[in-house]
Amino acid sequence: MSVSHSILNGAPSIKHRTMANNMETEMPKAFRLHCERSGRDQAVQPINYAKAADTPSFVISLDFEMFWGVAAFRSLPSYRRNVEGEWSAIPRMLALFRKNAIRATWATVGMVMCRDHAEWRKIRPEPMPTYSRPGLSTYNHDAAAREHPTLFFARPLVEQILATPGQELASHTYSHFYCGEQGTTPEQFSADLACARKAASALGAQYKSIVFPRNQLRAEYVALLPQNGFHVYRGNPQNWIYQTGDVVPGGLAGRGVRFLDAWLPLSGPGVARPTACNRMVEVTASAFLRPWSPRLAAFESIRLERIKRSMTVAARTGGCYHLWWHPHNFGVNLDANLAVVETLVSHYNRLRDRYGMQSRCMGDFAGLVVN
Ligand SMILES: [Zn+2]
Repeated sequence: MSVSHSILNGAPSIKHRTMANNMETEMPKAFRLHCERSGRDQAVQPINYAKAADTPSFVISLDFEMFWGVAAFRSLPSYRRNVEGEWSAIPRMLALFRKNAIRATWATVGMVMCRDHAEWRKIRPEPMPTYSRPGLSTYNHDAAAREHPTLFFARPLVEQILATPGQELASHTYSHFYCGEQGTTPEQFSADLACARKAASALGAQYKSIVFPRNQLRAEYVALLPQNGFHVYRGNPQNWIYQTGDVVPGGLAGRGVRFLDAWLPLSGPGVARPTACNRMVEVTASAFLRPWSPRLAAFESIRLERIKRSMTVAARTGGCYHLWWHPHNFGVNLDANLAVVETLVSHYNRLRDRYGMQSRCMGDFAGLVVN
């Protein structure tokens, strides 16, 4: 992943603010240096902030993208059932969230909000993305979007999200824009975000939060977020094996570690605290909730135990446990996948009663920079 340092260059001072005391404190020098070196603004668990007794949080974010999010990587026949299944999965997830007062962030691809193919054809950013690998552009899928509109456009689902209490509509960019790919420019990213804002405002919504497609975080793109109206973004888990988003370090071995990490606590509990830096809050992800698999059903209790233990660590230490997945992951085996979430929500309910853990959407942390 290419990392620029521009996000921090020229910053007169870097402030940190915690949810609990809402006080701004000058960042320790060691942390500031870390920021400057790495180009990242999220905590390396320094130092004085740990004193703040923040309320423990349970965060869920969902990357809602229909076929746009996988169009460059999967064929439509091979993944069609998953995407079609979102029409059932999302209402049932919303019902579960409503019943348990779970606040969730729905990071939605702007194109999903278009009414139909004709409207989608009318909305184009200026300039358009110019990937070095042209196959990445979602604008290539004109014919498929016209022939199979329900796999690409899902405005009624977005309206259901907006109508459900506690749900946050966030952005997953307009076109599932790949910030980590060669050939794009910051101007193209800003133009994409302008289209995303337009799509949301047509539904009466305004964004606070964003999730980068394929978790491709680049500091020079993060630096553009405040001027585009965003306050919060999802960071990658702090363990090195996840820091580079969709680029897995160590090749096959790294992939193996990421896979096994769902069952064995190889990367630790993944608990972090939302942190503010340069007018943005990073709500670091803890783990990707893998879809339930019949092949791995025998190990399911181990996987659930791994997640529950990590949630408990967050609850006990005042940290944040942030789980994310895609609705299309639930497009097949929906009952089994929902049963997993129900189990985790029940565990959260126990942690809420015992430790005061709170369900929060990403936008709830915007106050760390907005006040
Ligand atoms: Zn995505």
